[in-house]
Amino acid sequence: MVGVNDGATTEVAVIGGGPAGLLCAIALKAFGIDVLLVAPRAGDDHRTTALLAGSVTALTTLGVWEGCRAHAAPLVSIRIVDATGRLVRAPEVIFRAEEIDLDAFGYNIENRHLIAALEARAAALKVARIEAAAHTVTSDSAGATVALADRLVRARLVIGADGAHSLCRAAAGIGSNRHDYPQSALTLNLAHDRPHGNSATEFHTEHGPLTLVPLPGERSSVVCVLDPAAARALSDLPDAELSVEIERRAHSLLGKMRAEPGRGLFPLAIETAHSFARSRIALVGEAAHVVPPIGAQGLNLGLRDAATLAEIVADARRQKADVGAPEILARYDGQRRADATSRRIAIDVLNRSLLTDFLPVQSVRGLSLFLLDRIGPLRRTLMREGVAPGAAQPRLMRGELV
Ligand SMILES: Cc1cc2nc3c(=O)[nH]c(=O)nc-3n(C[C@H](O)[C@H](O)[C@H](O)COP(=O)(O)OP(=O)(O)OC[C@H]3O[C@@H](n4cnc5c(N)ncnc54)[C@H](O)[C@@H]3O)c2cc1C
Repeated sequence: MVGVNDGATTEVAVIGGGPAGLLCAIALKAFGIDVLLVAPRAGDDHRTTALLAGSVTALTTLGVWEGCRAHAAPLVSIRIVDATGRLVRAPEVIFRAEEIDLDAFGYNIENRHLIAALEARAAALKVARIEAAAHTVTSDSAGATVALADRLVRARLVIGADGAHSLCRAAAGIGSNRHDYPQSALTLNLAHDRPHGNSATEFHTEHGPLTLVPLPGERSSVVCVLDPAAARALSDLPDAELSVEIERRAHSLLGKMRAEPGRGLFPLAIETAHSFARSRIALVGEAAHVVPPIGAQGLNLGLRDAATLAEIVADARRQKADVGAPEILARYDGQRRADATSRRIAIDVLNRSLLTDFLPVQSVRGLSLFLLDRIGPLRRTLMREGVAPGAAQPRLMRGELV
């Protein structure tokens, strides 16, 4: 460990207490690493996350899933409906988890319940935590220094899990590749009259997807992607009118709807850091990559970052290596880049193909979905890749606690 006269010392400091930072801190602690979490308490986030199978396995392995189970609904099928109303329309495609020998693709849970379960597990494992924001991070050849309002923390490795506007990414001098879409996502949860049958439905419209994802009971979460002005107008509607409007857009699939309190409005962008780690600072979650909410990839990628980095640090520690050394950071960057880049490309192409009026692009999109509908092996390969990319699966996501 590296010492500093007037502050705390730790082997690893994790900055940010969103789901990626919490999972990373829990995994490090479970692997016996000296870790300090620097994270103010998060606000109530009513958004939901569809956690895919690998993420659920990692949460189970780390003892977090017990606290999530009662609040999560399984996703046994995913339906894609072309609601563009355009000349070339794709056929409806249904993916069923049983086709790839799974009971469910994953589980949908409100972020506030996921974070509560992660925080409870971190507390049970006695993960050290300072409930304050980091003001600056500086690094040198021996370690990194995190300055808080009232103290300094010295670590060999700083993990930036501080979200899309990452202080840690800026401190490491890591640039990013960013594109802002002309879209915002309105999020809300609602109760409805008809059962969802644990099936998620994604209506593809010319403004972006409208996604209904099951929650326990006769409730679902909604992500409605629109141009920013339309999303704002929808979000300003009173509950009763908003409920009717979402029911109309969902073709009354789930019957009468009743909006619950807690709406969110998120401008959509896609952003990837040029590097996942540099100068004793490694990035996980949205600090490293932001993707729009299509295909439930964002946090699942973030949890793969967190689990992979914790495993690399634990391996380094076992070999008595410096956990913040350049070769450790290079190993992490190498292991995460392909996964993040391939998801970025797939999500970006799908989103742009919805927005375009260019007929050949619409035709290719329609043909791709037609082929997916008809060719079993292609469907199954895509489903397996979507749920758990073979090449990038950390051990925790295979149920192994190293
Ligand atoms: C509408 C919508 C729907 C989505 N649906 C899904 C889905 O179904 N499945 C999926 O996988 N993903 C989904 N995502 C993506 C997912 O929500 C994000 O990937 C995830 O929330 C990012 O988690 P994180 O921990 O990286 O960052 P965050 O949740 O942003 O957490 C960052 C934390 O860092 C803290 N922080 C910031 N600066 C500092 C500082 N200086 N010091 C200390 N702490 C700091 C913040 O307070 C915050 O608590 C969706 C996103 C949107 C917008």
